[in-house]
Amino acid sequence: MICDNLSVNEKGHLTFAGQDTVLLAEQYGTPLYLMDEDKIREHVRTYRDAMVATMPAGSMPEFASKAFSCKHIYRIMAEEGIDIDVVSPGEIYTAMQAGFPMEKAFFHGNNKTDEDLRFAIRAGVGTIVVDSEDELTALDRIAGELGVKQNILLRVAPGIDPHTHKKISTGSVDSKFGVTVLDGLAVKAAETALAAQNLVLKGFHCHIGSQIFESQPFITASEMMLDYIVQVRDKTDYLPEMLNLGGGFGVRYVESDPVIDYAEKIAEVAAALQAQCEVRGLPVPKILMEPGRSLVADAGLTLYTVGGVKEIPGYKNYIAIDGGMTDNPRYTLYESAYTLALASRANAPKDFVATVGGRCCESGDLIQENVSLPKPVRGEILAVMTTGAYNYSMASNYNRVGRPPVVMLKGGKSTVAVRRETLEDLCALDK
Ligand SMILES: *Cc1c(COP(=O)(O)O)cnc(C)c1O
Repeated sequence: MICDNLSVNEKGHLTFAGQDTVLLAEQYGTPLYLMDEDKIREHVRTYRDAMVATMPAGSMPEFASKAFSCKHIYRIMAEEGIDIDVVSPGEIYTAMQAGFPMEKAFFHGNNKTDEDLRFAIRAGVGTIVVDSEDELTALDRIAGELGVKQNILLRVAPGIDPHTHKKISTGSVDSKFGVTVLDGLAVKAAETALAAQNLVLKGFHCHIGSQIFESQPFITASEMMLDYIVQVRDKTDYLPEMLNLGGGFGVRYVESDPVIDYAEKIAEVAAALQAQCEVRGLPVPKILMEPGRSLVADAGLTLYTVGGVKEIPGYKNYIAIDGGMTDNPRYTLYESAYTLALASRANAPKDFVATVGGRCCESGDLIQENVSLPKPVRGEILAVMTTGAYNYSMASNYNRVGRPPVVMLKGGKSTVAVRRETLEDLCALDK
């Protein structure tokens, strides 16, 4: 199995977090997002404990909540004592509604409006990660108007391509995110930040991309960031309290993806940082990392009901499901790989090759192509694994399809974290 929270029971049903997925589909209906809360907490503790053990005091993972945002997840992060990233007033509001301590929130985004900045300051967001010179000026003015000295990090684009998919690589010099290190522009931005009356520069941020399976890209990024920090120090005497190395490690979507030991990779990054700082005569700053998917992806699974099978002789086969790009747009967007199983007969031979197509009026609405599965019949339950990240959070109402509910599984029990959208919900905004 792709993750250790999956198994097959005596009825031949797929189990997830120890619970029978076919029974859960009957109880809650499909499409259905399941989230294994115990697995989420396990990943959070792995990151947190590894960072505490190997990095300077105060080093901490932040959950990049764009991967999966709802009130329940912010409560989990509050209970586990880690920080969060938020990227919009909507995520800020949701975290506040969950009672998350907002001083532990970091507000990101390449274009925060004046309204967004005001909202974040009023919400008590602890740190704003400033993306550009324009934003520095605007935030300084707004913080002044509100009578606040706002903590910030400055986001720098270190000029690294970590060799992931183009749409999820963000640290290269031509990225839309952050101030570039080229031509001393990022040094100049640090000077602007230090001169700002109403801003307190706590340190620097970089994010090189997602789905990184090695420690090396993080080590390269930290090296470039430390070189940058030396330039800033030489010019201004400023030393940052913290350095944020960005998004978390990769996730295993299919068998061919490597299994990674997050604690071991974190220790490798920590050791490299220590050495890099020594060489440059720098104190090791507090380190922040921002895992999103690696905290929640394999804690998620989506269940669908099969509507039927279409065989096109000499061409291909389709399996139709009752969800699709509305609940999981990642294949349509990035051709993302996923592992699928027929939850109703999880041990049956996988002797049928098919493309799994969603219900939307869109040829590109596919979940996966050319997968081997037992040939299903209408009414059987199909499971797509590792859907805990960027599925619910990217879901849409295209074709006026309601979003599925999110059911949390914990210690053998299930509870609804987000209820299913109703037809009334779909018309709720219409005049
Ligand atoms: C998306 C993002 C993350 C999280 O990336 P994952 O691949 O989900 O770990 C972290 N930090 C920033 C700035 C991001 O944009």
